[in-house]
Amino acid sequence: MRTVRTVAELRAALKQPRREERSIGLVPTMGFLHDGHLSLIRQARAEHDEVVVSLFVNPTQFNEASDLAAYPRDERRDAALAAEAGADLLFAPPVEEVYPTGFATEVRVGGPLTESLEGVQRGAGHFHGVTTVVTKLLNMVQPDTAYFGQKDAQQALVIRRLVRDLDLPVRIEVLPTVREPDGLALSSRNVRLQGEDRRRALALSRALQAAESDLAAGVRDAAELTAGLADVFSAFDVEPEYIALVDPETLAPVATVDQETLLAVAAKVGEVRLIDNTILNSNGNGRA
Ligand code: AMP
Repeated sequence: MRTVRTVAELRAALKQPRREERSIGLVPTMGFLHDGHLSLIRQARAEHDEVVVSLFVNPTQFNEASDLAAYPRDERRDAALAAEAGADLLFAPPVEEVYPTGFATEVRVGGPLTESLEGVQRGAGHFHGVTTVVTKLLNMVQPDTAYFGQKDAQQALVIRRLVRDLDLPVRIEVLPTVREPDGLALSSRNVRLQGEDRRRALALSRALQAAESDLAAGVRDAAELTAGLADVFSAFDVEPEYIALVDPETLAPVATVDQETLLAVAAKVGEVRLIDNTILNSNGNGRA
């Protein structure tokens, strides 16, 4: 695996594969790789001739300077893990390569997809930062497929909308959330959970599980389900930022879970902000 740092180097490295019509898969990441990222890289490896992993902690999608400053980084470790999972190229540009002096363009998805849930908590600007950098990465790499995780369900919807609206020539693949054995969704931020907070962080995945069993027991009313979930959060002494039962395509709130519904939760545990979600079916089967 080669590491490249400039768009020119990246394009040069992809010239030959492109000339030979080799297919290209892209996995965009902010690094500090874990098994969730590696599942995306392995899938890209299985489906494509060339696998590009980008490693870029995108400053424009952080709404809090302290979160950006505390974001964990370890490029050496990431390079070893990406190579082992099958990456051919690691694109790890410095900030000024992505946002050179004079940079003045933003790509925005408007409406409820960016203004609800995370868009309320972090501001829609978070998603504008994501769609701007993802558009740039797609233009830089021009992959056949780009891989994203269901862990960031709203982000995946926003990116699908972006690609449809701008006719970007790429297939978007969204893969299931990878979890710790106890249910905690893997996140680069989990390393920042201190002491007791690691256990308290289980509030999120346990709440999702509780919703699945409540649903299996016949509870369909969104308000009743939400109240049950709030109890799980308080049992873990965690204050949820939101517990949302919404349409999995539009993110419009649902009153009754009588078809596929996205259950999304967010909470700050200690200093660390965590999100998780599952798709609920009215037959009571969840799939995270
Ligand atoms: P990040 O580095 O956090 O920006 O994540 C890069 C990609 O990995 C995004 O598409 C995430 O949705 C995905 N991802 C993060 N955590 C997980 C996880 N636990 N399981 C599956 N995919 C994940």
